[in-house]
Amino acid sequence: MTGLVYKSTGSWYTVKTDLGATYQCRIKGKFRLQGIKSTNPIAVGDVVDFELETDNDSITGVIDSIHDRSNYIVRKSVNLSKQTHVIASNIDQVFLLITIDNPPTFTSFIDRFLVTAEAYSIKTILLFNKIDTYDEKALDEVKYLAHVYRKIGYECIGISAATGKNVDKVKAMMHDKVSMFAGHSGVGKSTLVNAIEPNLDLKTKAISAQHMQGQHTTTFAEMFDLSFGAKIIDTPGIKGFGIVDMDKEEVSDYFPEFFELKQDCKFNNCLHVEEPKCAIKEALDKDEIAYSRYKSYLSILEGEDEQYRTDNYN
Ligand code: GDP
Ligand code: ZN
Repeated sequence: MTGLVYKSTGSWYTVKTDLGATYQCRIKGKFRLQGIKSTNPIAVGDVVDFELETDNDSITGVIDSIHDRSNYIVRKSVNLSKQTHVIASNIDQVFLLITIDNPPTFTSFIDRFLVTAEAYSIKTILLFNKIDTYDEKALDEVKYLAHVYRKIGYECIGISAATGKNVDKVKAMMHDKVSMFAGHSGVGKSTLVNAIEPNLDLKTKAISAQHMQGQHTTTFAEMFDLSFGAKIIDTPGIKGFGIVDMDKEEVSDYFPEFFELKQDCKFNNCLHVEEPKCAIKEALDKDEIAYSRYKSYLSILEGEDEQYRTDNYN
């Protein structure tokens, strides 16, 4: 049988078949995921093959293989330096919620998020939330940012989770897809998910409450079916994607607007910092590249990511 992993608690996996039957599954003894060094061989979002077993009176499943992943996101294990933990896989898109105020979302955060999403090959849609609260100046800021990010290929939508403005647009984009929601604490993720599906019982709040009491330090992702034919993956306690380890030469690969331009740099190993005849710096001087994006690029290049790491995992 083949099914999709909705939940994992370490040793048991909740797997649902296309027909909607749900089974609790274990992993076959010697099963190991090839090529990936992670503390968990199977994650939420994985498509797996399994066989049924009758154990006393209950029917459970034994997973014996996993289908190739289109992408996956990881977090670094705190204990085992080289080990990673796969949070979720096969994610079609992530909606990044951005607010101008309450709380402010800075372009440095947006750009780091986008770089990581690009490195993971996950499509990102930018949702500017709380537009019902903005004055003219804040709305101008939304317009400016939407212009900057649309120009480089990201879809941008102004929404209000509170009034419902453009929530239908978001719903339409979620149809038949697996989506995630990300963004700083307080940007309106829970409010938006509630507006999309009123009776969904997300575990985010319960788990962070436990976390506050210091009883629970590990958080588990979970997939949910929505009533209108969409799936979401909830990742309690994870506000962003962290940062993927990458070589300096690799960083510019994840800035879409650098991609074609950099072929014209004089040096093919150009890092676009101090080198002469750099096509990126020339484009910057001509305002063809947003200065905020270039600043984010430099900051990622310099590895100023500690703040970001602690911001995003609580
Ligand atoms: P989360 O931490 O990202 O899940 O954020 P919440 O959904 O808990 O929202 C934080 C606060 O912002 C709550 O008081 C919400 O009522 C409020 N909020 C969320 N979205 C909107 C919006 O579109 N407009 C307004 N005015 N308030 C919002
Ligand atoms: Zn260059």
